[in-house]
Amino acid sequence: PSELTGKHVTVAGLGVSGVPAATVLHGLGAHVTVVNDGDDERARAQAAQLEALGVTVRLGDGATLPEGTELIVTAPGWKPTKPLFTAAGQAGVPVWGDVELAWRLRGLDGRKAAPWLAVTGTNGKTTTVQMLASILKAAGLRTAAVGNIGVSLLDAVTGEEEYDVLAVELSSYQLHWAPSLRAHSAAVLNLAPDHLDWHGSMEAYAADKGRIYEGNRVACVYNVADKATEDLVRAADVEEGCRAIGFTLGTPGPSQLGVVEGLLVDRAFVEDRQKNAQELAEVSDVNPPAPHNIANALAAAGLARAFGVSAAAVRDGLRAFTPDAHRIAHVADVDGVAYVDDSKATNTHATEASLAAYESIVWIAGGLAKGATFDELVAGAAKRLRGAVLIGADRALIREALARHAPEVPVVDLDRTDTGAMIQAVQEARRLARPGDTVLLAPACASMDMFTNYNQRGDAFAQAVRELGA
Ligand code: ADP
Repeated sequence: PSELTGKHVTVAGLGVSGVPAATVLHGLGAHVTVVNDGDDERARAQAAQLEALGVTVRLGDGATLPEGTELIVTAPGWKPTKPLFTAAGQAGVPVWGDVELAWRLRGLDGRKAAPWLAVTGTNGKTTTVQMLASILKAAGLRTAAVGNIGVSLLDAVTGEEEYDVLAVELSSYQLHWAPSLRAHSAAVLNLAPDHLDWHGSMEAYAADKGRIYEGNRVACVYNVADKATEDLVRAADVEEGCRAIGFTLGTPGPSQLGVVEGLLVDRAFVEDRQKNAQELAEVSDVNPPAPHNIANALAAAGLARAFGVSAAAVRDGLRAFTPDAHRIAHVADVDGVAYVDDSKATNTHATEASLAAYESIVWIAGGLAKGATFDELVAGAAKRLRGAVLIGADRALIREALARHAPEVPVVDLDRTDTGAMIQAVQEARRLARPGDTVLLAPACASMDMFTNYNQRGDAFAQAVRELGA
């Protein structure tokens, strides 16, 4: 029995979240209709699977609100300006995203409702959530990293497995559609312009990210170096006693976590009341120990400590963590040159972080710019660039920025987009590199002009590097 039993629910969008949402809603006894814009082969296969259960599916018509709809559960990526939502607004029909649905289904049927430690930000979400899960596990807690990774949120709240606490990654889209979410504690890692076409403006994007702090019980974790994140904490309506906890790469002030002489230090949740700081781990326990990643580790530690985890578990959890593929992954050393795959750096903010992590770089970049400009990025990194190799559709934008801000840096502009382009890019990079340099794939662009996704782009790079060594 649930508030959804017998309700007429429209699920907007098949895709990754729609099929499980429709299945769960149907299982609860809701009358489910799925509407989907496309009707390609994949959609038809998914529709057939749902129809076999008794779910109604309308392919090729995602705009019309089905008669009698009492609730819409939407795929997170659907834009708020879509006609379906305009119609819902006029009819007074509420709209939930996949996260809202999962949130509402917690504790259903007397299950234990595990609290959520939630993470958002423009970059670093996945890494931070995985570090957090690793720390919570080291503390002996039953947990999982959920969201865009591994277990889906819906599975985590409705499946067989029981959890003490969940480490939850949330995107700005998901937060937009999650009005009643109330995390135990949450962190916004950073805020840089991204997905502005979807949200409409930077203000709207920030406001959606800031939703993660609403109703927090114990701690709102923010980035001291990114004032916008602190502003979001100040604007949030939180439970009484909930604290604002900052993380910084510098010396921490009171109620902050930071770095002192190579140690991660906590001045917010100190175990021994006689002391004013708690040592957590060494910087070298963080993998890789690049500045942005130490920030991720501090954010994860802040959330874990808010949940009552010991300093020793923070250290053990960080030591046990290994980053996912294509995130500053060291591929090989060839002739004294390190080759590093940060294919996941699909925007300038992420790329700025990885360029900051090395001294002398041959930079492989380019792809689909998604409306970005590169002046600031290139100007900031100019001193550390040994050379650049540009690939992909929008490489001219980067070439022009290099000409303006780093005119002395040699640039190879590869005018090809076939599958062999990455091999040539790596060979050109090798020619530019000197022993001690790093050849860094950090494209600052999306990959879809040349590759299926960033994974394939990173794999192509790693393969090309292995061929150099062979
Ligand atoms: P997300 O899940 O937010 O996309 P990931 O952890 O997958 O974040 O990392 C995405 C990219 O951002 C990677 O290229 C990584 O090097 C970079 N990155 C990770 N953490 C940060 C950070 N705190 N600030 C800036 N860039 C980061």
